Amino acid sequence: MERVSDGSFHATYKIGDIKVTSLRDGYVDMPVRRLRQPGDKPFGDDLPSQVPLFDGALRLSVNAFAVDDGHEITLIDSGSSNAWHPTMGFLPQALSEARIAVDRIRTVAFTHTHLDHIHGLILPDGRDGFPRLSSLLVPRAELGMFRSEARLRRFHDRAQPLDPGQRLSAHIEAVAAPGHEIGHTCFRVTSGGETLLVWGDLVHAPSLQFERPEVAWEFDADQDQARATRLRILALAADNAYCVAGAHLDSPGVGRVSRAQTGFRFEPL
Ligand SMILES: [Zn+2]
Repeated sequence: MERVSDGSFHATYKIGDIKVTSLRDGYVDMPVRRLRQPGDKPFGDDLPSQVPLFDGALRLSVNAFAVDDGHEITLIDSGSSNAWHPTMGFLPQALSEARIAVDRIRTVAFTHTHLDHIHGLILPDGRDGFPRLSSLLVPRAELGMFRSEARLRRFHDRAQPLDPGQRLSAHIEAVAAPGHEIGHTCFRVTSGGETLLVWGDLVHAPSLQFERPEVAWEFDADQDQARATRLRILALAADNAYCVAGAHLDSPGVGRVSRAQTGFRFEPL
């Protein structure tokens, strides 16, 4: 897998015969207390110095990923549009920089239904983000959560359930990864013998959670399940030489995982 183009808001990689583009929606700063040690214990003075802080906060990239098989484009997550913080919502700029025409995006699939992943369906001016959308896939366990987002009302009936093992296309398969949210899903993208796992919110603080996968996130729906899933998916990626792409890994958020003396190691691509 190699990077074939990049810019301030995107990086495109070739995987076998297809292309995957990391799209930078922006970033969000979060308090350090979101990081939780086992027992739901926050860090204090014991926060390892390897964790970079910006005015005392953790800085999370927010990335979405477009899979282009040459015919059509599947978008995995959609950024937050103007639903949260003005440091996010740059997905349209990222698509334009990557020369991805929005009307080629026919399928949008969500790793989970938190607002930094779903609100890109609607542009700040109220128009549809993806005017030719024909398939909107939401993890089955989170359909109710999705349909409780009043702002996305016009998409409620269009959402179709997404199940683990489901194939979105010849190249994309859904993989269960519950914990951060009840229906949290990864997507295995395969072509020409190469595999990229688009893993959503498996890791929020890459400076710490590869080395210490037991560190959880305050907003994990089930921290213990999220820990177990993180360990399982990190091992899956490391042992099968998968590349990975993370919604909150430092932009562009694509790289390789290997086992380390303590936990795992991430090498950006
Ligand atoms: Zn997220």
